[in-house]
Amino acid sequence: MKEPEIKYKVPNYCPICNSIVETGVLFTYTHDVTYTDELQNEGIEVSLSKCLNCNSPFLIQEHFQIIEEHSWNNDRQQLYPLADNTALLNAPDIVINPYKESHKCYRAQAYEACVIMCRKGIEAICTDKGEAKGSLADNLKKLKDKNILEETFYNWANELRLIGNHGAHSHESKVDKQDAKDSLDFFDALI
Ligand SMILES: [Zn+2]
Repeated sequence: MKEPEIKYKVPNYCPICNSIVETGVLFTYTHDVTYTDELQNEGIEVSLSKCLNCNSPFLIQEHFQIIEEHSWNNDRQQLYPLADNTALLNAPDIVINPYKESHKCYRAQAYEACVIMCRKGIEAICTDKGEAKGSLADNLKKLKDKNILEETFYNWANELRLIGNHGAHSHESKVDKQDAKDSLDFFDALI
């Protein structure tokens, strides 16, 4: 298959590269277009683009308005990849705040801070479920015993070197991007 041509470039945040990258728009599709007269129209535009660094796809929907040679886009919505966890809507504030912080840290490439915020958030989930006294590992085990936490999740938590680690105060171990990503994914799934 022939590689589609890049129509134009726009900057966007790429979750795989974890940075603002240049993306190339490959296809655009417009619908619900209404013409006020020959020179004015507005509608919805959906565009498929790719990260020019790692080739990941993005699907963006925008409302556009064109008046003569001027054009505006607004109500931008990223349809893929979805950034926000929908379960977050029902989560208590003690979980939402560390969730937001952990993502901020990750985007700022502050990976150690990110893992610490994930840990804090996971502890908050334990607290919310009535287990606040023991260590994080003990509390997760109690949630598993009470059948609040599924076996698979519990095993996953134990595999997470940093979250399961009693010695989170260790100064030698270096936290890399993958560790931070693993912690975020686990925290996300737990929510
Ligand atoms: Zn990328």
